[in-house]
Amino acid sequence: MAFKVKRRKTRTCTVGKLPIGGDHLVSVQTMTKTKTWDVPATLKQIHAAQDVGVDVVRVAVPDEESAAALPAILSQCRVPIIADIHYAHGLALKALEGGVHCVRMNPGNVKLDLMKKIVDMARDKGRAMRIGINAGSIEPRKGLEPQKGDEAPDMESEMADLMVETAIQWCEKFDGWGFHNFKVSLKSSDPLTTIYTNRRFARLTDVPLHLGVTEAGTLEASTIKSSVGLGTLLSEGIGDTIRISITGNPVDEVRVGLDMLAALRLRKKNVDIVACPSCGRDEVDGGVEVLAREVENALKDYKGNITVSVLGCIVNGPGEAGEADLGIVGAKDAGYLFKGSTLLRRVPNNQLVTEMMKELRILEAERAAVGTRGSVSVK
Ligand code: SF4
Repeated sequence: MAFKVKRRKTRTCTVGKLPIGGDHLVSVQTMTKTKTWDVPATLKQIHAAQDVGVDVVRVAVPDEESAAALPAILSQCRVPIIADIHYAHGLALKALEGGVHCVRMNPGNVKLDLMKKIVDMARDKGRAMRIGINAGSIEPRKGLEPQKGDEAPDMESEMADLMVETAIQWCEKFDGWGFHNFKVSLKSSDPLTTIYTNRRFARLTDVPLHLGVTEAGTLEASTIKSSVGLGTLLSEGIGDTIRISITGNPVDEVRVGLDMLAALRLRKKNVDIVACPSCGRDEVDGGVEVLAREVENALKDYKGNITVSVLGCIVNGPGEAGEADLGIVGAKDAGYLFKGSTLLRRVPNNQLVTEMMKELRILEAERAAVGTRGSVSVK
C-alpha cells in the first residue's frame, strides 16, 4: 500500500470559491512583488502565476492607491485575491469594500475596536481573514528580555510559545465575535521555529493553517528552508495552504510549492520527470542532465498527465523506466525508448526526445480510446 499523509482535521475556511482546510487539497499561494496600484504589472504577475497553477494570490495594500486598484485587479483574474494589510485599518475596510476575498493582517497591529469593525465587515460580506503572527512582530513578555551578556537559554522557545498563545487568543476573539471563516499563519525565518509553533498550534485548535518560512531568501536557499520547515509539517498532516517565500519570481514560488506537495503525494503533478543523478556510467551525449532538460523543455506546456524517466545507462533502465509512462535510457550512439517496462526500440541519441514525444501522442490516443484521464493536448 502506498504511503499517504494523514491530514490533520480542521474546519474549512473559504477564500472566494477556494476551500482551505478540512479534506480539501493543500492550496498554493504566492504574493505579487509589484506596486499594487500598477494594475497592468500586478496582473501580469498574477496571470503568470495562474498559468503555472497557483490557487490564490496575495497583494500588498500599503496605501490608498493600491486599495483603489483592487476592483480592477479582481475583475481580471480567476483566482481569489488576498489583501495584505499592516497597520491601517481603513485600508482593510476599503479592500473588503473593493471585493477582496480575504484580508491578511496581524490583529495586534490595530486597536481592538477597529479590529472588530474589520471582522464584522468580513463576516457580513462573506469574506475570509488570515490572522498573521510573525516572530518579528512579537514583543517579549516583561521580564523575559535577555539581559546584556546573559541571554536566557530558553528565550527562543518562550517567544515561540508566545506566538502560539497570541494566535490562540485571536482565534478565540474572532470566534467570540461570531466570525469563523479564518485561518492562521505562524511565520518565522527559522524553519525549526516554524515547525515548533505550527505543531503546537495544530494540537490546540481546529483552525486551518497557512504555512510559510518567511524571509527565506533566493530560490535555492528558500527551497531548502521551506522544504525543511514546511515539508516536515506537511508530512505530519499539518498545513492547509502554503506559500514558498522566494526573493524572486512568484512563478518560482508556485512551482516549488506544487513540487513540494507532489513529493508528499498531497497534490498530483501533471508532468513528472524522474531523472537519475548521473555517474561514471552515464552514456548520454553531453550527460543525462542535458537530456533531462530537453525533456523538461519539450513538456513544459503539456497539460495532460505523464511521468517520464530519464536515465543515463541501462544498469537500472528497465526496472526504473517501468515505474514511468515513458522512459529514455542512454546508451552509446543510440538510446532505448521504453513504454512502461516494455522496450519499444533503440533511437539515435539526437532523436530521443522527438521520438519520445511521438510516443506520447500515441499514448494519448490510447488513453482517449479507453476514456481515461480525459482529453489531452500536446504542443
Ligand atoms: S542510471 Fe546509470 S548513469 Fe544514471 S546514476 Fe544510475 S548507474 Fe549512473
